[in-house]
Amino acid sequence: MQARASLETGLHRALEREEFTLLYQPIIDGGNGRMTGVEALIRWPSDPGEEERLPSAFVPVAEESDLIVGVGEWVLRTACRQFESWRRANLDIGYMSVNVSVRQLRQAGFVEVVLDTLRTSGMKPGELHLEITEGALAEGPSIAQTLGELAAHDVHLALDDFGTGYSSLSYLRNFPIHSVKIDRSFITEIPHSTAACRLVESIIAMTTVLEKHVVAEGVETEAQLRFLQTAGCGSIQGFLLGRPMEGADIPGFMQGARTGHS
Ligand code: C2E
Ligand code: MG
Ligand code: MG
Repeated sequence: MQARASLETGLHRALEREEFTLLYQPIIDGGNGRMTGVEALIRWPSDPGEEERLPSAFVPVAEESDLIVGVGEWVLRTACRQFESWRRANLDIGYMSVNVSVRQLRQAGFVEVVLDTLRTSGMKPGELHLEITEGALAEGPSIAQTLGELAAHDVHLALDDFGTGYSSLSYLRNFPIHSVKIDRSFITEIPHSTAACRLVESIIAMTTVLEKHVVAEGVETEAQLRFLQTAGCGSIQGFLLGRPMEGADIPGFMQGARTGHS
């Protein structure tokens, strides 16, 4: 309880002092090996000698309080500002994907926050992808309305960690989801688990039939990459092709991606 309370106090302070940073992980076209977008991933640097603070440790704590609303707005603003500064440097990054927690979606005025951020940064709505989890779709009509409004404004919605939650086919059909991100837990088991291989092939086939884009998360080996390319997976994300990196390193990465992997 005490550790949690002090983590929460620390998070409050970190938000006030803007101590968070964002890293950006490349998302690569499965066909031609080019970078098509990046995912923004939050980091909270720790003091030297202190234990590393991973998102898996502090994001859930922020999500249990309203802190995630402020943190999420900071992430959105910072990611969009970064996107714009790349554009000013004549870099075509494709799209910026931002993780959004269900608590942010519940917040009245979330759509306005997103649209305001887009206006301020001069981004087109389709250049922003919002990653939501399956749990958000189970929330009921008010979130459905929020997602509907975002999609009506052409903001791209991606279903993150697909396969770990409800994975309901009716959600895929009834919600304005544009893309599906297959969770790393399935990719890790490729190619040695036949069941995982068939499952991933089926997810790719199903999402393609539903005219949705599919991204594989957590690709770490050449064998996984080859399997996914053969299965027709649209986009690839993982340490094999690019780790989360500082914004300043993305231009150099793109240079390499254009001439490197395909
Ligand atoms: P996620 O959205 O599914 O993000 C992908 C996670 O997988 C990231 O972990 C990324 O570093 C990691 N990853 C990518 N490729 C590989 C790989 O090849 N191998 C392995 N082992 N890992 C890989 P990270 O950055 O630690 O983030 C963990 C989770 O924290 C995210 O999962 C997301 O749910 C949450 N998160 C991160 N940033 C934010 C944020 O700004 N807002 C919110 N609400 N949640 C965030
Ligand atoms: Mg994500
Ligand atoms: Mg994920």
